[in-house]
Amino acid sequence: MARKPFIAGNWKMNMTVESGKQLIAELKPLVKEAKCDVALCVPAILIPAMVKAAKGSKIKIGAQNVHFAERGAYTGEISAEMLKDYGVKYVIIGHSERRQYFGETDDTVNKRTLTALANGLTPIVCVGETLSEREGNQTEKVLDKQLTEGLNGVEDVTKLVIAYEPVWAIGTGKTATDEQAQETIKYIRKKLGKLFGVKNANKVKIQYGGSMNAGNCKGLMAQPDIDGGLIGGASLKTDFATIVNFDK
Ligand code: PEP
Repeated sequence: MARKPFIAGNWKMNMTVESGKQLIAELKPLVKEAKCDVALCVPAILIPAMVKAAKGSKIKIGAQNVHFAERGAYTGEISAEMLKDYGVKYVIIGHSERRQYFGETDDTVNKRTLTALANGLTPIVCVGETLSEREGNQTEKVLDKQLTEGLNGVEDVTKLVIAYEPVWAIGTGKTATDEQAQETIKYIRKKLGKLFGVKNANKVKIQYGGSMNAGNCKGLMAQPDIDGGLIGGASLKTDFATIVNFDK
């Protein structure tokens, strides 16, 4: 069965209740006919208001992180149960900004992924190499480690989404070429095949992320192994709808 495309936005630490509600109101009619799945991963404090704002539309609201413990003495953290309470379906795990600034490791990515899955959330697990790793021909080695350790113990890999985000392309305006993105995502699928079986790997949605925008989305989405996008900057404006409607 063909993999249904999935376009997700990552608002990062942007927007307020008012500006978020306004953007969602503008996006709703624009994404009405979308053939793909659509999500906006918003700051945790905006989740209740954005779930309400997106109600009755194609837009599902996701989170940008989840703690790995079910509950307890983890000041400042948010559990999977709390996210589910508000109807959250998706959660980004292991974004490179969390790896870079907040001490996220493949081990904590793994714990968060297992907890999200155990609670019925769909993790969007981010992987990707830095510029020096790419230039040093380390991309495959880095991805091998991120996938092997980050997905250790996952029973059904088809229940998660992978986002391939080359760190050098995030927020820089430098997009991987269509060929670079396809080649690397094909490699990720091959690796998933080795870890979880080819049949399962062929069912996993793999997004590209890194300066994807209204202008370059068509070429990226035309690649056979690219099933969607994780969109940062362009998800803060109505350009997001153009990406969602990449097939029009
Ligand atoms: C991201 O943060 O996941 C991302 C892809 O950002 P941008 O689209 O702004 O590069």
